[in-house]
Amino acid sequence: MKNYDVIAVGLGPAACSAALYTAMGGYKTLLVGQAAGSLYKAEKIVNFYGQEVISGKELFEKGISRAKEVGAEVEYAQVVEIAYEEGGFKVKSDKSEYFAKAVLLATGAARGKPKLGGLSEFDGKGVSWCAVCDGFFYRKKKVGVYGAGQYALGEAKYLSGIGCDVTVFTDGRETDEPWEKTEKRKIRTLYGGDLLGGAELEDGEQIPLSAMFIAEGVASSSDFAKMIGLETDGNYIKIDARCATNCRGIYAAGDCTGGLLQVAKAVGDGAVAGVEICKYLKTL
Ligand SMILES: Cc1cc2nc3c(=O)[nH]c(=O)nc-3n(C[C@H](O)[C@H](O)[C@H](O)COP(=O)(O)OP(=O)(O)OC[C@H]3O[C@@H](n4cnc5c(N)ncnc54)[C@H](O)[C@@H]3O)c2cc1C
Repeated sequence: MKNYDVIAVGLGPAACSAALYTAMGGYKTLLVGQAAGSLYKAEKIVNFYGQEVISGKELFEKGISRAKEVGAEVEYAQVVEIAYEEGGFKVKSDKSEYFAKAVLLATGAARGKPKLGGLSEFDGKGVSWCAVCDGFFYRKKKVGVYGAGQYALGEAKYLSGIGCDVTVFTDGRETDEPWEKTEKRKIRTLYGGDLLGGAELEDGEQIPLSAMFIAEGVASSSDFAKMIGLETDGNYIKIDARCATNCRGIYAAGDCTGGLLQVAKAVGDGAVAGVEICKYLKTL
């Protein structure tokens, strides 16, 4: 496991801005993220201080390149899990595992819920959003994981590892990697009574399940918040004026914290978080 002083999850303006301060402050900094996110998708950025009109992709790449110039390391990978570890945190991606004394969440705006019948009805009654938090209650039981990407497979591996009998429900898609029990038929609805009973498929077949873990797409800030017990306000991570969360050593910046969803605010948050992380690391 590679060791860092600080790991920022994300490669957008919030993460790259923070890395300028932590790397230039002399701290070993890693950015782990993907070429994705709001800035990467934005066709044109027309209102960033001192910058002529520029494509989102170009500004994204400039941000990463400057962070590298000042000594930050960059890894293109999808983070699937963050967990407490003696003296800091373990950050697990689809490619590797890393350790850091401090973590910055800069994952952008959280995604919405998938459109799945029964999702709200059974939320907390068999529907879960976090294998690490709730998996224990379903050991030796038949459970589903909803999703098809690396995040879903990471949740499936975790649940299988603690003794659950896991089927991955892809809703018509191929999985990123093969999983022994995969159900590709689409789900018509989740069904049950007081508690989840299972998933009813498009052809009417009912698959009994004790739990369905939702792990659609890429793990978002609200998924990480559940994994490590961060306070949230709706889909946004709660931070104080220092960009600190309620968990010592975990900071958050940019769109994942809500407020003005603009590059300037993400860069500003990143700067505050970077400076505050340096102060925090000095106390260790
Ligand atoms: C179409 C569009 C147009 C816009 N136009 C403007 C504009 O003109 N001016 C302006 O100021 N703002 C604009 N915005 C908003 C601006 O892009 C965002 O406010 C800004 O990019 C937020 O920065 P961020 O670093 O918080 O998040 P993002 O830019 O979203 O970056 C998030 C990063 O986290 C990564 N990530 C997320 N989850 C994971 C995971 N599990 N593992 C690894 N990496 C992960 C992503 O891959 C990405 O690298 C626009 C947004 C869109 C969508």
